[in-house]
Amino acid sequence: MFEWSKITSLAYLTLLELNIQEFPIPAKKIKCKGVMISSYQNYAKKTGLSMDEITLGHELEDAFLLKGLRPGLTLILYNKEKYGPRMKHTLWHEIGHVKCEHKKHSEKEEIEAHFFAAQANAPNVLIKTIAKRGYKIDVHFLMECFGLSEEAAQKKMGYLNKYGFEHSNEYDDIVQMQFANYIDTKYPPKTKYFYDDYYDDLDRERENWY
Ligand SMILES: [Zn+2]
Repeated sequence: MFEWSKITSLAYLTLLELNIQEFPIPAKKIKCKGVMISSYQNYAKKTGLSMDEITLGHELEDAFLLKGLRPGLTLILYNKEKYGPRMKHTLWHEIGHVKCEHKKHSEKEEIEAHFFAAQANAPNVLIKTIAKRGYKIDVHFLMECFGLSEEAAQKKMGYLNKYGFEHSNEYDDIVQMQFANYIDTKYPPKTKYFYDDYYDDLDRERENWY
């Protein structure tokens, strides 16, 4: 039902396209071709519209996607006051809707957009690379390395414990190349004997999971 691999490809392609080379990704670098990203606050100032008009009377959400104001214009508006680790996930989530070409907003689309955001914010292939270098991957690590919120980091750990790293992707190698400098500088290999240990640990954790 879900095409995890395809969504991962879309997230990785977006990182490649934006030429992002380090983590945590600076919020300013989160963009999407053909999409204007602006804060409500700035958009209100620029257009002279009130917040109510912009949000169409909805309660002010963290962010949302707006289409059809003008032909061919897609807008992602976010609430500047809620900026922080969670906002980055929210922005990637909205970009995920665009990249996955979602036509509606049912539960399936929401899950897909969350998965896209999780892969853009903390690509599995890089977590795998860093793990192989002898670093312990846990919630704290994910928050520190990728700037994830605690909630997002916990979800990611849950995913990794459940599925491990068996899902490889066609863009794994290119993504690794793009972040090679960052990884080599920040996470130089600790030992040469870590590889198997890590996978043993992961397997043990997975046994507990079930
Ligand atoms: Zn959504």
